[in-house]
Amino acid sequence: MLVRMLSMSDPDDVRRLYALAYAQKLRVTGRYVFFRGLIEVSNVCARNCLYCGIRAGNGRAARYTMSDEDILAAADTAFRSHFGSIVLQGGERSDAAFVDWIERLVTSIKAKYGTGLGITLSLGEQTPETYDRWKRAGAHRYLIRIESSDPDLFARIHPAGQSYDNRVACIDYLSASGWQTGSGVMIGLPGQTVGNLADDLLFFRDHNLDMIGMGPYIPHPDTPLTQACPDVRPDFHLAIRMVAAARLLLKDVNIAATTALQTLVPDGREQALLAGANVIMPNLGDPQYKRKYSLYEGKPDLNDGLDNCLNSLCSSIRAIGEIPSQDVYGDPVHFATRTAGR
Ligand code: SAH
Repeated sequence: MLVRMLSMSDPDDVRRLYALAYAQKLRVTGRYVFFRGLIEVSNVCARNCLYCGIRAGNGRAARYTMSDEDILAAADTAFRSHFGSIVLQGGERSDAAFVDWIERLVTSIKAKYGTGLGITLSLGEQTPETYDRWKRAGAHRYLIRIESSDPDLFARIHPAGQSYDNRVACIDYLSASGWQTGSGVMIGLPGQTVGNLADDLLFFRDHNLDMIGMGPYIPHPDTPLTQACPDVRPDFHLAIRMVAAARLLLKDVNIAATTALQTLVPDGREQALLAGANVIMPNLGDPQYKRKYSLYEGKPDLNDGLDNCLNSLCSSIRAIGEIPSQDVYGDPVHFATRTAGR
């Protein structure tokens, strides 16, 4: 069934699929779209994922780390824009200075805004102790994509020594220790089949995830994966069918309309909202940082002013009949359901 949905090509079938997924989304969160202000705190990374433009081994990436002041200013923009939530995302480091820094940032943001801003972290694989510290500091959601739930495909896109089992262990630890936990995959990886993608969806269900963020794999020129497989063409429509299939299978989770979709098609995120996604993550970074946080080629929004972007994003959300929600955390219903009575 999932494979059939993911392989659909008849336009009427595809329209029906999106309509069913959208109706399911309406039943869960109505017409509301939840916002998270995305702050890409640093592109310094200790990892070497073969697909990623900010991998440690990419000597051509100009590295930056945002100052505390700039991060707090971005959090303030999110608050003043009524987003209700922010995401601190970055390259992966696990040294003591980094762990302390994130803890301090979360503590300061919480001290300032309290329940006015929910904090999501997306900072890769860490020890349980680190996750616990960041949670005590006040973060409550964590995003960590499995990238592919197929251990062989995972091994092909990561260097030796980067363990599939540890990634899964991180996801399961986060989920069991009270975090709202999100994961996801890249769609259209070299060698990935529609069967793999169907299994990814079952992985999300079996690991009881609360939030899903998926996007097309977009080659970055300075990565080993692009050098080995230069001819991959991102498949936007397959990515939207994945969103719809995820909504139909997982029902009450939050699903992000990701930036990578917008990179391929200007209204890609709106199309995802109409196929079952309910979260949007506008980038709050200064253009000087955004340019350097180059995971893949062609990231959008690099030149337009933030206010223009937000205004036009809100208008385009209203134009498709959706409502930008304001000043709420926008927690996934699934989290409330799975933790009820615990
Ligand atoms: N360091 C954090 C955050 C990573 S960046 C972590 O490891 O979890 C966020 C996501 O960008 C990654 O999880 C990956 O799925 C995506 N990404 C990286 N390179 C990409 C590419 N070439 N095309 C599409 N998505 C990519």
